[in-house]
Amino acid sequence: DQAQPKKPDWIRVKAPGGKGYADTRKIMRDNNLVTVCEEAGCPNVGECWSQGHATMMIMGEICTRGCTFCNIATGRPDALDVFEPGRVAHAVEKLGLNHVVITSVDRDDLEDGGADHFAQTIRAIRHRSPKTTIEILTPDFLKCAPSVLETVVAARPDVFNHNLETVPGLYPQVRPGARYFHSLRLLQRVKEMDPSIFTKSGIMVGLGEDKQAVHQVMEDMRAAGVDFLTIGQYLQPTPKHHRVDRFVTPEEFAGYEKAAFGKGFLMVSATPLTRSSYHAGDDFARLRAA
Ligand code: SF4
Ligand code: SF4
Repeated sequence: DQAQPKKPDWIRVKAPGGKGYADTRKIMRDNNLVTVCEEAGCPNVGECWSQGHATMMIMGEICTRGCTFCNIATGRPDALDVFEPGRVAHAVEKLGLNHVVITSVDRDDLEDGGADHFAQTIRAIRHRSPKTTIEILTPDFLKCAPSVLETVVAARPDVFNHNLETVPGLYPQVRPGARYFHSLRLLQRVKEMDPSIFTKSGIMVGLGEDKQAVHQVMEDMRAAGVDFLTIGQYLQPTPKHHRVDRFVTPEEFAGYEKAAFGKGFLMVSATPLTRSSYHAGDDFARLRAA
């Protein structure tokens, strides 16, 4: 039970508020949607919601896994809601999003891990908002037949994101139930199946990893053809969660960013408050315009 390191002043978060925030909140409530912004207690919620960026979480609020950094409840999830893809699409249209991020809890209880539900959600959004670019942040489908990934890829998301979360040496403590090389291979398979889909992954730092291991993760991702990378500071959601080992300095983040571009990533976000979906739409729009 060592004391947590003190939060440095570069981790400063603005309290949420304002009209854009309230509007986003209302649309989510009206459509009975869950956002990872709220569930995960994301520090950027004020900024993102006031600009109409949000990450919706499908397939319920209960996860079959129990990652030690994550604030989502673990247990037995409810049955899938067949109307959810339609409600998500409706909310995306109402919010007028240029880019949407859809994620989910892990559904080891379902034979296809929720692959078909992801595909249906992508198709429903495309139907109502053909110009909106769609980013999905998926579970690892570890317990499913390899073919379920084809179902998701066939729905053609613009960006396929799956986070490695941490360096392989910390998996047993941080991401029990997941396998580093399985997750890496999943990203590689997406690229092999459809090279026009951008692949993306991310890790948190400050969990106890060393720098060399972070560089190795970047190398592994590039070898698997990953295009976009996010690196952010881990923050402990409650005292029961994995402790913060240290706060990585903004200079170190800048060093990771530079190294990542040097290794060939097309898009990199590495700052203390970077989250997997932080400014995802802006960055993607810039990349497409380039
Ligand atoms: Fe939501 Fe992502 Fe923004 Fe956090 S960074 S508030 S999870 S959209
Ligand atoms: Fe949280 Fe995802 Fe782990 Fe579930 S699989 S506990 S939602 S990080």
